[in-house]
Order: sequence, then structure tokens, then C-alpha cells
Amino acid sequence: MFSTTDTIVAIATPAGHGGIGVVRLSGPDAVVIATRVTGRSRSFVPRVATLASVRSSSPSTPAVDQVIVTWFQAPASYTGEDVVEFAAHGSPVVLRQIVERISREGARLAEPGEFTLRAYLSGRMDLVQAEAVADLIDAVTPLQARAAMDQLQGTLTSRIASIDSALFDLVARLEASLDFPDEGFHFITREVTRTDLGVLRDALDTLVRDGRRGRMIREGAVVAIAGRPNVGKSSLFNALVGADRAIVAELPGTTRDVLTERVDLEGLVVTLVDTAGLREGGDVVEVEGIRRAREAHGIARILLIVVDRSSPLTSEDRTLVDSARDAIVVTSKCDLPAAWGLETLPVLSPPVALSVRSGAGVDELRRRIVAAITNGESFDEPPAISNVRHVALVDDARMAVGRAADALAAGATEELVLAELASARTALEGVVGRRTPDDLLRHIFGRFCIGK
Ligand code: GDP
Repeated sequence: MFSTTDTIVAIATPAGHGGIGVVRLSGPDAVVIATRVTGRSRSFVPRVATLASVRSSSPSTPAVDQVIVTWFQAPASYTGEDVVEFAAHGSPVVLRQIVERISREGARLAEPGEFTLRAYLSGRMDLVQAEAVADLIDAVTPLQARAAMDQLQGTLTSRIASIDSALFDLVARLEASLDFPDEGFHFITREVTRTDLGVLRDALDTLVRDGRRGRMIREGAVVAIAGRPNVGKSSLFNALVGADRAIVAELPGTTRDVLTERVDLEGLVVTLVDTAGLREGGDVVEVEGIRRAREAHGIARILLIVVDRSSPLTSEDRTLVDSARDAIVVTSKCDLPAAWGLETLPVLSPPVALSVRSGAGVDELRRRIVAAITNGESFDEPPAISNVRHVALVDDARMAVGRAADALAAGATEELVLAELASARTALEGVVGRRTPDDLLRHIFGRFCIGK
């Protein structure tokens, strides 16, 4: 089990230089240690920012830095324990010296996510909220940040709680009926049970559907760019990224590696993958590039196939377009005279005419990519659920409720229905974190940064 009896310390602000840097201290000895490292004779006052100096060892040694110390008294703190934050000048050297000094007074260096783990263990937040903290820190688009903030504020927690309380209510009535079989005392009829199960299933269905949108917002989508060498893939990649990241070259086969870049397309995180020309042969480097390109195609949600409008269509182009009928086809170099007619290309949806030279078609392509990812669904409102772990557990609960309904329809006893409802409740409890095994907690909190 996790220990929370010691006091932990970490630099809570990102690596590098900044205006201020924060060292965070949490645990039973936080205040004693803070008093010692600042050499103060008086105690700190909770929530009052206090100017102090941190010294390298004894009070007579020179100061390492002047800091603002704030004590958040247990249990009204992030972790639920005594927390002391030192706002120092944002120099990595200074911050490390402060941490070293604090360590010498008995604090231990915190593991990644350990402050939030302690917040969870002390009941300051549930698992959904703790995971939302990591999502909020990792967010790269405003939509991701909003979805994480919603979860931090308890939107998903309360949705789950209301479904669970309806489940509990149904379980209680079924159990009561079981307990008094002889009196013919029925607290609930099969008909009402059936209706209640239907309502529960609908609520869980909605959440699972929400989860598909949510995962798209949280995880984003991979968009791969494919095409013969020299058709303009790297140029297109650059135009979408808006910077000269990929190498653009005149010679065929010079895009040797798979380049990836994350871009924000209308709030969606899109990982663009520029693949090497899908060509057999070439040298070793190119072969490796082609292998990775095939891999990228395999995982890409959306495939952009680029065909050069200014040079004759080849059988390679046709094969590529034929092999991925749901791809978005881009006809490149439309600023140059067209070498072939559009009717010769067997595509389902109209190709996007693009010129990287003039910029024509780039916005249209962006819109087509977003439409393909969202599948017509609105992404204006952040969904309540987005974490794959949560979606999987809600889906488990939905299936268990479905099995309960099927069992009831097949004339099963209350016991069987109750067994399925119990597994539905276990799944929901796993979302918010009651009954969560240690190794899963380690995995979840391990993805946090240090100091959080
Ligand atoms: P890749 O091998 O498919 O990645 O192709 P590149 O992006 O390296 O482009 C190959 C050549 O086509 C380069 O000389 C580009 O400058 C040129 N090119 C790319 N896009 C356009 C375009 O829209 N118009 C014109 N005229 N040339 C382009």
C-alpha cells in the first residue's frame, strides 16, 4: 500500500528558467521543515504569504534565495495534508538547492503524481478528478482543457453517482422482495424492473456515445499523407503545420523518414504524419521510411492521398486511390496546367484541388479533415467523459445492465438479475475509484509530472 506518513518535496513548476519557480512540500512535517530551512523563530500563519529566506545549512550561512512561503493547513490543502509552497526565483539551480536543503531536513523526493495521489488517498478528490488534473496539465487545445476542467469540477462524477443511485435503488427493492418471499411481499414487479433497467441502459448508452466524442477530443486523430514521391506531400504537410518542419526536395524519394507534427484543427488535436513515398526499392534508409509509412497508414484514422494534377496520372496513383476508398484525395499543384481530367480518377467524394504555391484549397482541406474526424457530430460542448479507462468501465456497466434485462425477459430469478446489477455497480465504482487496486493507481498516477 502507498505510504503517506512521510513528507514529500518536489519542484512543481516546469524545468527551465522563469519568473518564479515553486517548490512544494507536503506531509506531517511540512511546517517544521519549512520553519527550519527559513530559520524563522515565529510560526507561519495558514494562507498568509510570508517573505522569508532559505539558507543552505545553518542560519549563519548565506541565503540561497528570498522566497514567499505559503502554508496550506491540513485538511484544507491540495493533498489534504499540511502543504507548504515556496515561491522562489525561477532558476533551476536555486530551486534544486532549495529542494536539497529541504531533503536534508527529512523530506523525501516525490514520485510523479504523488501529490495528486495523496489528494486522492485522503479523499480530497476522486479518481476521475485526479485523472482530470493530468489531462488539464497535458491539454494542448482549449477544448481539451475545458473537457478536463469539467471533469475536475465533478460533471462525470455526478453523472456516475446519479446512475449508481438508481442502480442501488433497484437493487434494494429487488433484495427486499427476495427477503420476504413467503409473505408474497413484492416491493417491485417484473414490469417495473424491466422499465427501470431500460432507463438505466439508456443513461449508460448516452454516456458511452459521449465517450466516443470525448476520446476524439482527448486523444485526437492521426492523419497520414500518402502519395507517390514528389507529388507534394511534404509541401502539403508544411502548409497544414504552418512551418517549414518537413524537408522539401526536388529529387524523388528524398522524404526519408516519417515526420509527425501535432496541429490544432478547430480544437481537435490532429497528428499529421508525412510518409515517405510508397515505393519499392531505393536504399536502406528509404526502405525503413517506407516501412514506417505503411505503419502510419495502418493507424491513421484519416488518409490524405495526394496525386499530382500537373503530371500524368500513373498506375501507382490509381492503385493507391483504389486501395483506400474512404481517403480524402488531394489533387496537388493546381496552379500549374492540368495534365489529366478529373473524370479519369475513380473517387467517391470530390477531390480537393490544392496549390501550396497559391494557398488555394488549404482551408477547404482543413474543413474536410475536421468533417471526416467529427463525422458530422458537434464538438462545441465538451462531453462528460473522455478517458478510455472510464469509457471501458461505463461500457462494462452498460453490458451488465443489458444482461440483467435479457435475463429478466427470459424469466430468470431475482438472484440472477441482482448478480448482473452488482457487476454493473462494481464497474461504476471503478470509474470514480472506490475499489481500485494499487497497481492500477500506480499506472494512473505514474503518467503525471513530478510536483503534481
Ligand atoms: P513529396 O516528395 O511528395 O513530399 O513532394 P514535395 O513536397 O517534396 O514536393 C515536390 C516538388 O513539387 C517540390 O519541388 C515542390 O516545390 C513542388 N510542389 C509542391 N507543391 C506544389 C504546388 O502546389 N505547386 C507547384 N507549382 N509546385 C509544388
